[in-house]
Amino acid sequence: MRYSKDPFWMTAKFSGQCGNPDCHCQIRKGENIFYFPLGKKAYCQNCGNARERQFEAEIFDESVYSA
Ligand SMILES: [Zn+2]
Repeated sequence: MRYSKDPFWMTAKFSGQCGNPDCHCQIRKGENIFYFPLGKKAYCQNCGNARERQFEAEIFDESVYSA
């Protein structure tokens, strides 16, 4: 089951800080970011990749448990 609040990759429209507090990298305008509409958090590519894998794993778990 997919929701409209699912995170997605997009191009950063602003520069800013990565949403991961442990990551001190700066997001620059035009960079690829992983954006969570829920919470309005944007992650740099490194963190985004990790979050995406985590998110996909959670989706997988959900489908397993609801089956
Ligand atoms: Zn980051």
